[in-house]
Amino acid sequence: MSTTPAMVDSTAAPNPPVLPLSLDSLVFALSQIISLRDYRPPSVTRLSPTHQKSSTERHLRLLNLLSLLLVTGEKGDVAAVALRLRGDSAELYYAKNRPCTKNENDYIKRIFGYVTKCPTSPSEADCVTMSHAILREAIPACRIKLNSRITRLVKRLGELGDNFGICYSAADDSTDTVHYIRKNLTSKVFKPEASLSDFLQAWFKSVQTRAWESLPTGSVYQLIWIAYYVGTSPDIRTILDNALVIRLLKLGDYFAVPIVVQAAMSLLTTTKREDLSVQEIVPELQRHVPVPSNFLATVNSWAIHNSKYPTTAHELTAAFPQHAKLPEVDDPPALRIRTSVHCECTLVMALVAAAPSAKHEIGVSKSLCWMCREFILIIQRMHPLLQIHTSSCHGKLVAGWRIPEGIPREVVREIMKQVHDEVDEVLDRAARNRKSDSIPRATGSEDSEEKKDPAVWEPMFNDMIEDAGWEME
Ligand SMILES: [Zn+2]
Repeated sequence: MSTTPAMVDSTAAPNPPVLPLSLDSLVFALSQIISLRDYRPPSVTRLSPTHQKSSTERHLRLLNLLSLLLVTGEKGDVAAVALRLRGDSAELYYAKNRPCTKNENDYIKRIFGYVTKCPTSPSEADCVTMSHAILREAIPACRIKLNSRITRLVKRLGELGDNFGICYSAADDSTDTVHYIRKNLTSKVFKPEASLSDFLQAWFKSVQTRAWESLPTGSVYQLIWIAYYVGTSPDIRTILDNALVIRLLKLGDYFAVPIVVQAAMSLLTTTKREDLSVQEIVPELQRHVPVPSNFLATVNSWAIHNSKYPTTAHELTAAFPQHAKLPEVDDPPALRIRTSVHCECTLVMALVAAAPSAKHEIGVSKSLCWMCREFILIIQRMHPLLQIHTSSCHGKLVAGWRIPEGIPREVVREIMKQVHDEVDEVLDRAARNRKSDSIPRATGSEDSEEKKDPAVWEPMFNDMIEDAGWEME
């Protein structure tokens, strides 16, 4: 393997190296320097299907859960869905970060086949039949993500020790929590003679000791069923550890899907439901691109280009103690990372092209990354009547985020500016840890004012736009 980064210009000044500052390189560097902002996503709130919240919240809850059913691929698979209602017709769009395989598309068609056959006023027996049909397909299909959620639950149980942090006295055994769990789990699972504490202890123990990866669909079905009713029981957060409750709810989401789908489909007219069109918005193909693995060098290249003071590993660590470890060799080889247009951006582009002045709701199987949130905000600013409602944002940059092709040039510029502002923020924060008497002189600082003029940045923007795959007008 070559020891020279594929993207390094060998004629460039060696210290710090002047690297081509592609969007991929800058986003990769920023993704390694986590916790850039003090932004924290809103606290996790779970809506029981029966809770009456605003219609947008309920729709997003539905769409988020539907998108979960589509996560059938390898670790890191993610999906987004949007429902568009027009007159008498309803269209459901879905996308992943990569084109779906034929098997995935067939599975998704089968799942929505059950949905469209749901009666307008389903009996309890209809609901049970449909839930079983969906989960019988979904549990094996979604097993990779399910196993990952089970692993997290088991890990948390292990961290809590022998009594699993249960804070409950048998003397309190007539609370709403107990009534709710008993009513929904039946006396076969939650035996009448057992206290809530006994039941939880025994169940957690069995969850901890079973070999989940090889257990059949029926065992996983029972697990998500119990997890759902324990996790959604009233006041459960006063009895169990909060992180444990969140893990129960994440598993219980799979049990909630058919319930929520039925509630939502009963709101559609029979015509709309029967004619529901389910369509994949095929994303651009993923690409593998080289990026410099030394993100400090990337940040300093940006600093040199913009007449800012370069930073050091020491300053960066002081400013961002959680950032990823820098490579230990001076001249590490370039990494090849996979870039993709994130599924929510693919859906946004399709929906905006179809209806740029409408309200759109997009459900995603996980929280949005920082770049997707910024992208959606920029698109909304360009279309004053457009409203896009979607999941909360986890606030981090993700390596491999790519700008969709065919978007207006001003959107590309705005995205670039957001990324550049973040790199500047990194340098500014690192500089606050620098002693005034140890400031090194930046190369080319004499023309710093000129370089700060956006007009002089223009060629660099254009380079980056080309690097991002945007065809110049
Ligand atoms: Zn994203």
